[in-house]
Amino acid sequence: MPEIVILGEVLIDLFAEKGVSLRSAKALFPSPGGAPANVAVAAARLGADVGFIGKVGVDDFGEVLSDLLSGEGINTTYLAADPRAPTMLSLVAAPSSEEQHFIIYNGASALLSVEELPQGYIAAANVFVYGSATLASDSLAATLQAARWATEAGKHVIFDVNLRPALWPDLETARQRIEAAVASATIIKLNERESKFLTGTGDATQGSRELIERGVHLCCVSLGADGAYFDNGTVSGYVPAFKVQVVDTTGSGDAFVAGLAYQLSGLTMPVKQLDEPTLQTMVSFANACGALAATRLGAMSALPSRDAVEQMLRNSNLLR
Ligand code: ADP
Repeated sequence: MPEIVILGEVLIDLFAEKGVSLRSAKALFPSPGGAPANVAVAAARLGADVGFIGKVGVDDFGEVLSDLLSGEGINTTYLAADPRAPTMLSLVAAPSSEEQHFIIYNGASALLSVEELPQGYIAAANVFVYGSATLASDSLAATLQAARWATEAGKHVIFDVNLRPALWPDLETARQRIEAAVASATIIKLNERESKFLTGTGDATQGSRELIERGVHLCCVSLGADGAYFDNGTVSGYVPAFKVQVVDTTGSGDAFVAGLAYQLSGLTMPVKQLDEPTLQTMVSFANACGALAATRLGAMSALPSRDAVEQMLRNSNLLR
């Protein structure tokens, strides 16, 4: 049984050329994606034993994605090919450096059902990870149920808020469902924008405090080039980022989540009991994963190996 189980969407991103809107794009370039799938690949490259729960369609993209995940050593026993819908697609354009436009077709990723979930497989893992995209579709009940099983089994349950407004009919629905997901997890990863959305404050210390008061056991706020902040209700602190030549930060958040999941997979102690040096070490490891992902173009293609992460930690005297 895998030590880390990740549930969510695996999809094909269809990118317009840089600087071109979806209105005027003449070509779209396919690339594998989906935040949970990126987290799965990142954790597998760190050397973790990973399982992925999700759905693709019975089509060429579904086969490509399934082969890709299993080629990374990920257990795909519960990545089903469902004939009722095609593989999820996300059309993405960045007409300027500030703008990103999406058209999203949920397809098979919206067909996860509670009845089909492998409860024993989920409860046996040390770490369960999920995100918010499947909360926006008919996969809502299955996503929350899987998280509850893992929490009830006493496992580390990471919810990556990863808010994508384009997926939601309105932000109030997003808020209600994301709040339900926060209540089903023990560990939350969010950025400052998502903290503002959920708690009303983009300040990492205040936002984390509020989420801890709502019952979260560990809150990690990623701060881009400023690193990350953690709070487990007893100890808290900022962990600086690694200085890197940034090429493209796509996938950094997913690499960070994978780094955290990997660190937690060997830990049986509840995160609430972790001391400050241990949390500093864990979040530094996650920061190194995020920083390395920023040094290369793309998401999945940029996710680092464990050797690369350890090299970075060794160079900073954080690993001996
Ligand atoms: P998200 O995409 O979820 O908002 P961030 O942009 O905060 O995530 O990135 C996640 C992590 O990746 C950060 O906490 C940091 O450790 C690392 N990271 C991101 N951008 C940079 C950067 N420019 N320089 C160094 N590390 C970075």
